[in-house]
Amino acid sequence: MNTKAEGDLRDGLSAAEIFENREGLTYNDFLLLPGYIDFTADEVDLTSPLTKKINLKSPLVSAPMDTVTEADMAIAMALCGGIGIIHHNCTPEYQANEVHKVKKYKHGFIRDPMCMGPDNTVADVIEAKRKNGFTGYPITENGKLGGRLIGIVTSRDIDFREGHPQLSLKEVMTPIDNMITAQSGVTLQSANHILEKSKKGKLPIINGSGELVALIARTDLKKARSYPNASKDSNKQLLVGAAIGTRDTDRERLKLLVSNGVDVIVLDSSQGNSVYQIEMIKYIKKTYPDIQVIGGNVVTRMQARNLIEAGADALRVGMGSGSICITQEVMACGCPQATAVYQVSSYARQFNVPVIADGGIQSVGHIVKSLALGASTVMMGSLLAGTSEAPGEYFFSDGVRLKKYRGMGSLEAMENKDGKGAAMSRYFHKETDKHRVAQGVSGSIVDKGSVLRFLPYLQAGMQHSCQDIGARSVGILRDMSYSGDLRFMKRTYSAQLEGNVHSLFSYEKRLF
Ligand code: IMP
Repeated sequence: MNTKAEGDLRDGLSAAEIFENREGLTYNDFLLLPGYIDFTADEVDLTSPLTKKINLKSPLVSAPMDTVTEADMAIAMALCGGIGIIHHNCTPEYQANEVHKVKKYKHGFIRDPMCMGPDNTVADVIEAKRKNGFTGYPITENGKLGGRLIGIVTSRDIDFREGHPQLSLKEVMTPIDNMITAQSGVTLQSANHILEKSKKGKLPIINGSGELVALIARTDLKKARSYPNASKDSNKQLLVGAAIGTRDTDRERLKLLVSNGVDVIVLDSSQGNSVYQIEMIKYIKKTYPDIQVIGGNVVTRMQARNLIEAGADALRVGMGSGSICITQEVMACGCPQATAVYQVSSYARQFNVPVIADGGIQSVGHIVKSLALGASTVMMGSLLAGTSEAPGEYFFSDGVRLKKYRGMGSLEAMENKDGKGAAMSRYFHKETDKHRVAQGVSGSIVDKGSVLRFLPYLQAGMQHSCQDIGARSVGILRDMSYSGDLRFMKRTYSAQLEGNVHSLFSYEKRLF
């Protein structure tokens, strides 16, 4: 607090002042001024609401895009305290099964191990090793998970057999009689104990009929660490969200998702202020009162008002700011993201409706800026694409390891037949439309390794940033913003250049 004699020593502007003249600002157009530090970075509490009823220990959400979020990503997001939203550019059954995998996930258990059948060959194992990097495969009667377990092949069964690629696995496998297995329902702790005693690399888990239901790998156990901040429901199952559209057929999809335990539904539309979405929100709130519904996307207060009135439990904010997005260019519609987040958040908070800042997040700094503008969580696509948990295979181009990343409004995503027009519906296209207007591009992104390493970096980065600002928690950061104690400063173009690396001949930018 300043004394009267000192006058007002606050530099910069309050959030209200910086947006006063209703300009369209982006994250790069301003900075947050530093405050006073009297705590350590690891004390900073990142807890923040996703929706009216769900709090996350970490304000991070993965986007419902078919190159970003399926079960693997959603599991990793939830383990680290965030949440993943499974995309809907697939059949309802496929999407519901991804939700099922997250809900049934038990740390350390591999729920969908790759299996082989007795008639697969040594050559198949060698090829699978080349692709997946490991040689241990359970052998079931039908070659699938859920089939009766009859044996296992590991590197010890395959070594020295390279000269006989056509040998069938039933000739080389270790048969079930010589194997150690565990019954389903076993705890991770006792499974760990069995593995330790057996000195084997893999422990198959079978049910009462001898059918394979899961697998535990020694290598996974060795690297398993605990996730104290994991996002869980009251049954201690991981939280997961799923995206749907607003067509009549989406009601069936919704039913399947709910029966598989989905916690949050995201109504996936590039322009959410529509009669279809309002009706869908009302329908979900009436039919499934326990399901949290996220409406959007919106970028103005007027759009937000309609969805809040309809009963949305949170709003997804962003139009045209995504890395793969060409909406602003093609549709002439949208809003610079910082302005959209500030305007919608400051309106929605009067109704206790949290805001998700969606799209355009390129760095830790952007995450903290969006929270300072009033968002409760951020949704990321490009930042998480290219990780090992993102769907899709890696490929090489000019020696660089890449994964595909595409907009859901790209022609390529809209043409995916499995999606039954889901990606199109986001952009108000019908499968029968003669002309499609793309609102996104399809591209590639560099391999980023595992998201389980990347998310802790983002979290530590947020904590250090809040420390510089003098905010002990994300909640305090938002309060400081609304009280005017958090100070913002606009950046001229040359200030932006100054704030980036400059004057060097060459450099390497390693972030963590
Ligand atoms: P990013 O994090 O900047 O890559 O943006 C991801 C966000 O972009 C998603 O959560 C969607 O809101 C949005 N988005 C996804 N696909 C498209 C598209 O094809 N066109 C426009 N926006 C898209």
